[in-house]
Amino acid sequence: MNNELHLSFEFFPPKTEQGRNNLLDVAKELSRFQPDFYSVTYGAGGSTRDNTKHVVKALHDLRFSVAPHLSFGGDDEATILKLLQEYDAMGIKRLVALRGDRPSGMGGGSQMVYANQLVAFIRQHFGNKFHIEVAAYPEIHPEANSYDHDIRYLKGKFDAGANSGLTQYFFNPDAYFYFIEQCERAGITQPIVPGIMPITNFKNLSRFSDNCGAEIPRWVRKRLEAYGDDLESIKAFGLDLVSELCETLLDNGAPGLHFYTMNQTEPTATLLRNLGLDAQ
Ligand code: FAD
Repeated sequence: MNNELHLSFEFFPPKTEQGRNNLLDVAKELSRFQPDFYSVTYGAGGSTRDNTKHVVKALHDLRFSVAPHLSFGGDDEATILKLLQEYDAMGIKRLVALRGDRPSGMGGGSQMVYANQLVAFIRQHFGNKFHIEVAAYPEIHPEANSYDHDIRYLKGKFDAGANSGLTQYFFNPDAYFYFIEQCERAGITQPIVPGIMPITNFKNLSRFSDNCGAEIPRWVRKRLEAYGDDLESIKAFGLDLVSELCETLLDNGAPGLHFYTMNQTEPTATLLRNLGLDAQ
């Protein structure tokens, strides 16, 4: 593997013991690609706090480098401080700091803590112990007041002490390149690694994309819709499309790739092999 290329794989914490065991197998299989780290998501509103911690510990015990995601969710400072102390004691060196989303069905009552405030909180209590990743949105966060506001708030996360960014997934490379240009103009110098979503199932992809504001280009949507339940054709088309996206990103200076693995080996491994990034 090219040492310059940043590679990371995102997992969500399974709810069952069987799911956790399967995930550890996936992590072992993907380790052949020598990722910089695995990251483990944090359920909306902190709903998976303990599950996330268990998976982080299990991956860490296997000597993988692992970055827990975390947000304040509905929690108070003491709860988040305790969680951070536990990660520190475990030997965790990297975090993904987020505002997070509310769990579905939970009203908009309490004020949510923006990610820049969480970054500042971590730096205040732990100095430079952790490498802090933050989320970035090449197609702009769905709640942002404007394009420029969203870039300004991203800059605020770096000013608060974040080290690098991981993006929401997207399928239009121009959205990423334009975004990076705007970030640089705003004075952001830290690396922002594109998030990559393998395409394996149109219904799920469509649902996720509607929720998170990631755009599926019309021609891609039409093509995928036309395949109906023909999963093999969806996978083959998705593999070509996303391989080309990754190639374009890397050829034009993206610092690496962050894969949304959906806790599966094959979609990510097939893409990486297609890109010639198999280490062994
Ligand atoms: P922020 O950076 O705080 O931004 C949230 C919104 O508020 C944006 O619209 C921004 O423009 C605006 N904003 C920011 N600061 C201010 C301010 N000071 N004043 C006014 N407006 C402001 N969600 C989860 O629940 N768990 C996860 O594990 C998770 N992992 C993710 C990983 C990645 C790589 C990405 C890209 C997203 C992830 N998400 C996760 C989704 C994310 O939590 C949501 O998109 C959430 O709505 C925003 O989180 P954020 O950290 O980007 O928020």
